[in-house]
Amino acid sequence: MFTLFDNTLKRLIEAAEHLDLDPGFLEKLKNALEMTQARLPIRMDDGSTKSFLAFRCRYDDSLGPTKGGIRFHQQVNGDEVMALALMMTSKCAVMDLPFGGAKGGVKVDPHSLSNMEHESLSRAYVRAFAHVIGPDRDIPAPDVGTNEKTMAWMMDEYSTIVGKRTPAVITGKPVALGGSLGRDDATARGAYNIIQHKARTLGLKRGARVAIQGFGNAGMHMAQLVAADGYKIVAVSDSKGAVHAPAGFDIGELLAAKRCGRVINMAGSAGVSEIPGDELLAVDCEVLVLAALENMVHKGNAESITARLIVELANGPVTPEADEVLKAMNVVILPDILANAGGVTVSYFEWVQNREGDRWTLDQVHARLKTAMEREADAVWTYAREKNITLRTAAYVLALSRIAAAMEALGTDKF
Ligand code: GLU
Repeated sequence: MFTLFDNTLKRLIEAAEHLDLDPGFLEKLKNALEMTQARLPIRMDDGSTKSFLAFRCRYDDSLGPTKGGIRFHQQVNGDEVMALALMMTSKCAVMDLPFGGAKGGVKVDPHSLSNMEHESLSRAYVRAFAHVIGPDRDIPAPDVGTNEKTMAWMMDEYSTIVGKRTPAVITGKPVALGGSLGRDDATARGAYNIIQHKARTLGLKRGARVAIQGFGNAGMHMAQLVAADGYKIVAVSDSKGAVHAPAGFDIGELLAAKRCGRVINMAGSAGVSEIPGDELLAVDCEVLVLAALENMVHKGNAESITARLIVELANGPVTPEADEVLKAMNVVILPDILANAGGVTVSYFEWVQNREGDRWTLDQVHARLKTAMEREADAVWTYAREKNITLRTAAYVLALSRIAAAMEALGTDKF
């Protein structure tokens, strides 16, 4: 049984075969730079104490201070955090950002926490990892189960510890506290920019049908962006269930249903039926957006997919075995480390603004994001064509070539 970390490393090793590299570079990347674990004891609202397991992994810092989100989820574990930190390392390199990769997590069901407990846990996380993070060392951000409120509390706690207001220690903050305009929908917008840019190559036409697995921040924004562009959203799912509307959802109604809690609230509206969650993948459509969690498409269900294009808004949603199946089916996969990199790219913009004491307009953010996404998508496509490899392998090749160049420049003393 391969773990998420094994699978992630495997993709990097595969990419290395297409580059003429000093084997020492890859050897170095087989282990994380730094993995810290802590317990976070929290006083709950009812007066009891609960202890939560927490991690922060800084995977590699060859390209710069490490960067990556903090996840609050009941399935968080060390292997997953390390795998996601390695993915962040590759993601920042694909986007040519001056960052290495990191990830953090707390094993907790965030929905079980009150607002005050969420705040205590966020602040406790920063107290435990204050020596690990920092604006020039390791810069966290939101991930599954955390949001701009979490980031605000964390920034405030860090500022108190170091005795000075330090907005650049964390990104994805509320705009009122130095967050960047355009960070909220950046993950989806980055993927949307690529889809627009490559629509012709991908054979996408107006009215193409889209199914979305996962209707959190990324999935919801994606639905809004593509629907405004004439695509038809025909199926969506969240952790509570899935709904299917073969003729397309009214996007306004869909978002309203989600705001009231869950997408299955849509079931019963005209033309909408509830379907079992695992049937979403098999729905008749042209584009499948994976915006839930890792390992959702595996060798047991990959064959049921009808879409011609898969967009990975989540990290690691397709296993390497499923990659093989989908390749044989000629399904194109827009890989996570490129497709969902809009989030960390606007996080970088936020960090730059914080350090300069500047604020960019929404138009500036959108324009710079579009330029970055199109530039790196072109670079990935070029590698894929030249070397006759998948977009995923090409993205890892691009990432690895940049990390290796930095390692080389750092010199042999670093080994
Ligand atoms: N958690 C997001 C990701 O997986 C964003 C990371 C960031 O903005 O640093 O890409």
